[in-house]
Amino acid sequence: MTIEQLIEIAKEAGFTTVSEMDPATINLREDVRAMCADNTCKIYGRNWTCPPACGTLEECRARVAKYHRGIIVQTTGELEDSMDFEGMTEIGRRHKENFAALTPRVREAFPDTLPLSAGGCTVCKTCTYPDEPCRAPQLAFSSMEGYGMLVSEACKANGVPYYYGTNTLTYVGCYLLD
Ligand code: SF4
Repeated sequence: MTIEQLIEIAKEAGFTTVSEMDPATINLREDVRAMCADNTCKIYGRNWTCPPACGTLEECRARVAKYHRGIIVQTTGELEDSMDFEGMTEIGRRHKENFAALTPRVREAFPDTLPLSAGGCTVCKTCTYPDEPCRAPQLAFSSMEGYGMLVSEACKANGVPYYYGTNTLTYVGCYLLD
């Protein structure tokens, strides 16, 4: 499968913007990882795909370094206003749905893909971490932030907007491909 074909399939999965990503632009940052450790998302240390289980920053860098191609996927939606929490949840839900629909199709064509989305893996209602192995490694995904990526920086470095105007919200993910 070509990148162009993958981009079309990603659009069919529901993403509003899909673009090629150059893994060489990826900058994994200590400060982003430090934000994870603050645990505002409440899943730090509770999921196989989040820090610390997803590996040290150096281990994540080594993993990312083996990829030479990729795509960025975005789900953008409109909010009624900046307090529209229901709208924010709805856009987040759509992004998760799009990602869950696309991941098996990417894996089929690129078995060694590294899928990274917004927030840690939510495939299972409760993650098995740390007591049992991951239930569905073929569907599991880490988060861009969990790997240390500043999402706005990753978009900019690949020529993709991150901000689409007042009262819009964008969730971002990517698939790295070897
Ligand atoms: S697939 Fe399930 S067990 Fe595996 S990382 Fe995701 S939530 Fe955890």
